[in-house]
Amino acid sequence: MKVLKFGGTSVGSVENMSNVKSIINDGKKKVVVLSAMSGTTNQLVAIAQNIADNKPNEAIEKINKLHETYFITIDKLLQKKGLNEDVKTYVSGVFNFLVECTYKVFSENLENQIVAQGELLSTYMFNSYLKQENISSTLLPALSFMRIDEFKEPEIDHIAKNLQAILNNAEDSLIYITQGFICLNNNDEISNLQRGGSDYTATIIGAAIKAEEVQIWTDIDGMHNNDPRHVDNTKPISNLSFDEAAELAYFGAKILHPQTVTPVRADNIPVRLKNTMNPEAHGTLISSDTSENGIKAIAAKDNITAIKIKSARMLQAHGFLKKVFEIFETYKTSIDMITTSEVAVSLTIDDDRNLDKILAELDKIALIEVDKNQSIVCLVGHSIVNHQDTYKLFQILQDVKIRMISYGGSNNNISLLIDTKHKIKTLQKLNDYLFELVTL
Ligand code: ADP
Ligand code: ASP
Ligand code: MG
Repeated sequence: MKVLKFGGTSVGSVENMSNVKSIINDGKKKVVVLSAMSGTTNQLVAIAQNIADNKPNEAIEKINKLHETYFITIDKLLQKKGLNEDVKTYVSGVFNFLVECTYKVFSENLENQIVAQGELLSTYMFNSYLKQENISSTLLPALSFMRIDEFKEPEIDHIAKNLQAILNNAEDSLIYITQGFICLNNNDEISNLQRGGSDYTATIIGAAIKAEEVQIWTDIDGMHNNDPRHVDNTKPISNLSFDEAAELAYFGAKILHPQTVTPVRADNIPVRLKNTMNPEAHGTLISSDTSENGIKAIAAKDNITAIKIKSARMLQAHGFLKKVFEIFETYKTSIDMITTSEVAVSLTIDDDRNLDKILAELDKIALIEVDKNQSIVCLVGHSIVNHQDTYKLFQILQDVKIRMISYGGSNNNISLLIDTKHKIKTLQKLNDYLFELVTL
């Protein structure tokens, strides 16, 4: 069985939902994971923020507007009167719930309940649409099998056991539809897999049912060799290894949730990235194949904070780095890049929620310098450290101000830390010289 995930744009309009219908209606058994319609989760986050800021009227205004747009879509999507009315009743129930939330005291749990509604809406609507088109499908409620533990990691065994039981008892059907993104936490409260989490849902389900393949259907022809939102002339990459895809996703390629390949890698389940609006295009196949060497793609991750920790005590002394790492460990903050010299260590973090506390501790043992608004630019490919063309990178970057560089930590990744204001220029320059073969 395959798992097919369709993102926000793919279910974001009646026309695209019709494309999805054609793609999944091939007579083969499958699990279909859907995101919320594009824009919905952003609106739900904004509604939750209004409640947090004690602005219930602004929240209600947004809720009413969104309710109206859903009714317009339902009228276009569902002509059969019974189905149209049934879906409107369901959708109104969701929007009434959201209005009730505006009277409640804000909490993280309330926010999680609010943002979960997008996937509940899209799956209910799409399942009804298939009914109208006489395609048999069954809705599997994600909240009855998707669960994360206290560390926010998916509980694959629990998920596998429960999903299998649900599939065994469900009506026999070729198409099983479920919600991406949403799950329960270890206290059985509604939670989620973080923004963009539907990709992760798809590979978690893929691992749980030992799927033959996971397909991520989105609005672009697969993983491009650079960020198409900022760089001209980017191109789709036809093959990536699990390692390469994991690095790109982790270091900012928005097309994939950072954890997407983690669940399927051990079982060698391929992940295919495809374009819902252009299904004929090859897209990207992510697998264990590592046959091509050299720099394949570039990604960038923003909102990075760099910390320089300087201490004469480091000189020929042992135990200093241990102390530094323990401070980050105490505040559960992971470090992305690290470089050292004899008397200083520079490192980067992307989670700065505990920055003040970390700095206060570091201040006791060293001199500290902090640079915010940094970006990690990550060059990814198989065995790039050894590749004969990699030296060019250093020529290309002659006039880019690099704050840190990480080379040799893995054979598949070279990372540069730069000020975010230089990011787009750097990405474009690297693209031109590495992929467009512009000569220096
Ligand atoms: P979905 O809603 O289908 O999950 P996303 O918006 O999360 O879609 O991801 C697809 C988008 O990711 C593309 O439209 C593109 O703008 C962006 N993107 C960023 N980096 C890359 C990349 N390296 N390759 C392809 N797309 C990328
Ligand atoms: N709807 C969620 C989001 O916008 C999950 C997803 O689309 O993958 O983040
Ligand atoms: Mg996405």
